[in-house]
Amino acid sequence: MVPDFDPHGLAVEPHYHTAKDGPWSDALFEFARFPERHMADVVFYDSRVVAIRDRFPKAKIHLLIIPRERIDNLSALLPAHLSLLEHMQTVAASLIEQQLHTNPSLSFRTGFHALPSMRQVHMHVISQDFVAAALKTKRHWNSFTSPFFLGSKTVYKMLRETGRITVSKVDNEEFLKRDLRCHHASCKLPFRNMPLLKTHLESHL
Ligand code: AMP
Repeated sequence: MVPDFDPHGLAVEPHYHTAKDGPWSDALFEFARFPERHMADVVFYDSRVVAIRDRFPKAKIHLLIIPRERIDNLSALLPAHLSLLEHMQTVAASLIEQQLHTNPSLSFRTGFHALPSMRQVHMHVISQDFVAAALKTKRHWNSFTSPFFLGSKTVYKMLRETGRITVSKVDNEEFLKRDLRCHHASCKLPFRNMPLLKTHLESHL
């Protein structure tokens, strides 16, 4: 069962990753190993996955779903992980459904960054408003709104059909440099900088 998700209700002090927990890029695996130590950040866990609030949310609702087993990155995924991906998607759908009860106007995408900064596979579950203080750079923007963001279904299909996930480093680095444009299909207005784009995004709320 997925517990109630309250984005503001921190029952206990969060445990932030520190140097003694290991390198910062490994912080997500810590949640997978010991979800019960991080209940201020954890919104759901079972024997296969843990779902947490992203510490630097890039939208009103931004969660990460992390496998409990060690899987460094997308290229370490094997066909045997297809059922794990299905489970991650089921948990994501359930968390989104909960969100829609309180925020019916939000829409969501689920997927993975082609070239992630953090180790341990993690699925982003992110609302498509992108109204959040931590969304600051062109890189942030393009990582969620260009093909750098690999939809969950795309990843699942590639793994099922080819037996592995391959991404082009060169192509994906180019996606991050794209000019800024509103992501709404009916809008697509160009912007000179992030502050202008962010002000514009408020008009879509
Ligand atoms: P990426 O590796 O690009 O797919 O994104 C990693 C995500 O992890 C980003 O959205 C970060 O905001 C988030 N993040 C980084 N450190 C932490 C942490 N200690 N706890 C929770 N989320 C984190």
